[in-house]
Amino acid sequence: MDFELSEPKTLHSPFRRLSINVKMRRYISHLSGHSCSFPGCNENLTLNGASFIGHVAQIESSNPFSPRYNSNLDEDALPDPDNYLLLCPNHHAIIDRQPEVYSPQWLKKARDQHLKIIALVTSSPSAEEVKLDDNVQLSITEALDVWRKNRANASEEFWQRLLERCPTVLAQSFPTSTIKFGSKCYVGGKSVNNSGGNIIDFLYTNKTTGNVILIEIKTPKTRLLGKHYRTNAFSISEDLTGSITQILNYKEQITMEYHSLVRDSVTSFSTFNPKCLLVVGDIEAELTTSTKIKSFELFRNTLKDVDIISYDELFQRAQDVLEIMS
Ligand SMILES: [Zn+2]
Repeated sequence: MDFELSEPKTLHSPFRRLSINVKMRRYISHLSGHSCSFPGCNENLTLNGASFIGHVAQIESSNPFSPRYNSNLDEDALPDPDNYLLLCPNHHAIIDRQPEVYSPQWLKKARDQHLKIIALVTSSPSAEEVKLDDNVQLSITEALDVWRKNRANASEEFWQRLLERCPTVLAQSFPTSTIKFGSKCYVGGKSVNNSGGNIIDFLYTNKTTGNVILIEIKTPKTRLLGKHYRTNAFSISEDLTGSITQILNYKEQITMEYHSLVRDSVTSFSTFNPKCLLVVGDIEAELTTSTKIKSFELFRNTLKDVDIISYDELFQRAQDVLEIMS
């Protein structure tokens, strides 16, 4: 993607500047539905759905030479996504030349209104959702298309349906060759009066050894991080830590009740210290600063029993597979 932006003067290292801004530009472009935020414009800012021709404009700047200079802004603070809006090149030029008309307050209002409209459009049921109701398998290309159009969808059931329709997407996330064993599988835990019981979202098995892999899914909107804990650290969200405990609980159940489960199963499988995979969150959308990325990676890489993969990483992997095949 090709982006243009009047760079904030705040970031001293060129590497740091690039890594933060490319991520943030993509995030802002995605949030804005890749269309101009100027009231009434709505110009689509992608060329053939691929290269990006929009401008991510700064609302207020700590640079005294910029049109909307604010001397109170902290020059060393990390860029705040709320301080940017997506515009077409024409409207970017118009707002920069008339800062007395297009004040920061005016721009913030325009940005908020645009985001509200986009959120409404993306949360309404789309043609893609209807298509998911059919029992048809989707190709990776189709699944990627559904992902791009529904990235802000917070329904777990929607993502369950999508991954069921295209089992290859999940299968690509393991280093060994795997096959889908089942979805919404009972993994034990019923009491003597036959109540309760644990249901895992997906079970895959290693094609060679038959060992199971437990997969629990959340949504791309599930938060990965919690509060800003210290200057350079964020806490981990309750949803994420809760999901980890949940999947480890399933692992314990399926291992303990293996003999009765395998006896009732048509296909044989084994449970030798099975791998657990949690699909959750959207790194590109949520982890917009280097501190957030660091906090998340430090946490994720200390886990030895549960692998965490975000939805954007999962679909990036599917995209990579397509590119290798083409
Ligand atoms: Zn425009």
